[in-house]
Amino acid sequence: MDHFLYKDGVLNAEDVLLTDIAATVGTPFYVYSTATLSRHFRVFDEALEGMDHLVCYAMKANSNIAVLKILAELGAGMDVVSGGEYTRAKAAGVPGNRIVFSGVGKTREEMNLALINGIRQFNVESEPELKILNEVAISLGSIAPITIRVNPDVDAKTHAKISTGKSEDKFGIPIAKAREVYAIAGSMQGIDVVGIDVHIGSQITDLEPFRLAYQKVAELTKVLRGDGHNIRRLDLGGGLGIPYEQTNQAPPLPVDYGKVVRDTVGHLGCEIEIEPGRLLAGNAGLLVSSVIYNKAGEGRNFMIVDAAMNDLIRPAMYDAHHDILPIIEPDIDADQQQFDVVGPVCESGDTFAKQRTLTPVADGEMIAFRSAGAYGAVMASEYNTRPMIPEVLVHGDQFAVIRKRPSFDEMIKRDILPEWL
Ligand SMILES: *Cc1c(COP(=O)(O)O)cnc(C)c1O
Repeated sequence: MDHFLYKDGVLNAEDVLLTDIAATVGTPFYVYSTATLSRHFRVFDEALEGMDHLVCYAMKANSNIAVLKILAELGAGMDVVSGGEYTRAKAAGVPGNRIVFSGVGKTREEMNLALINGIRQFNVESEPELKILNEVAISLGSIAPITIRVNPDVDAKTHAKISTGKSEDKFGIPIAKAREVYAIAGSMQGIDVVGIDVHIGSQITDLEPFRLAYQKVAELTKVLRGDGHNIRRLDLGGGLGIPYEQTNQAPPLPVDYGKVVRDTVGHLGCEIEIEPGRLLAGNAGLLVSSVIYNKAGEGRNFMIVDAAMNDLIRPAMYDAHHDILPIIEPDIDADQQQFDVVGPVCESGDTFAKQRTLTPVADGEMIAFRSAGAYGAVMASEYNTRPMIPEVLVHGDQFAVIRKRPSFDEMIKRDILPEWL
């Protein structure tokens, strides 16, 4: 459920008319609903009730400081994958003991930053990383709390670019090698082994891969405890999928996911961490765009809009589907036609939807792409010197710009001419 509904024939975000936001900031823009974001967090958090747990929002999905602050105030921890994200989490007021650091390529600088300013744990992904982290911790006279990310070799049955738990993926260490690497970690002076980490991919719409992976983690917990490691924390990753299409089969509910967690690892007496990103932010955001031209092609209708692949890359990168809604509610019996909805960028990949059945939208009118709250604004670029579009946050009947659109001058001034030119 979200808070983007038609009221009196106009699409609203909570109690704000999207036409009012458009009149203030222009199109295209992203808009997020505080109520939806909060609701998603609460539903997920409640699904883990009864287990000692911390929901660590994977902020790579949407790292606007305002979004982080909403979740942090609800009690979320953060999962970060870079020094920049770590610094953002801190700027949003998240204490170090609620930040976990993931990622296959952490640098010494990033390790230093987190160790000096406070960290809940590093999710270590390789032996070389373990060795460097040990060195960095010793050089600071500190001890790095770690889990090791194991690769359980399960097929998450998701898009190849977002699958991470198969043996051919670059993430984590093979679960068969875990005892060996934990033994090395256990002997290191700068390392404190606190648990196990697993993350098998993103937009997973079937609970079985989670169950299989978590069963393997439960077995490994027992084995490692037998080897003398004090395994007290399990980071179970993120990845639970969301509905991108209203029509197709709905992904599993958080409560059913929570049951899988309870069934597989609930008896181990471990603190549980989950790292949802998309699930919290995805359906809490829309991308709103104006139709520039309707162009009739050879047997094809093109709807050319002012948003493009540089603003929302998911369709081009992952063949992703985003539902499209007109901002002005169409009559129930309005005619529908097939449209290719495309952006202005000079690449064929700049296509949001092919042969999509829609009611026609006149030039100058607006549409909204649903499910754009995660992996939208954060993956945007200024390709074609198109400014990064504004992000707007709605709360009840209020709205605020939470990142502004740069002017052309601001964009161009970032370039520096060398003195010899
Ligand atoms: C991307 C990522 C997540 C979040 O994935 P979602 O599908 O957005 O829930 C969580 N943990 C790690 C390690 C990730 O890389």
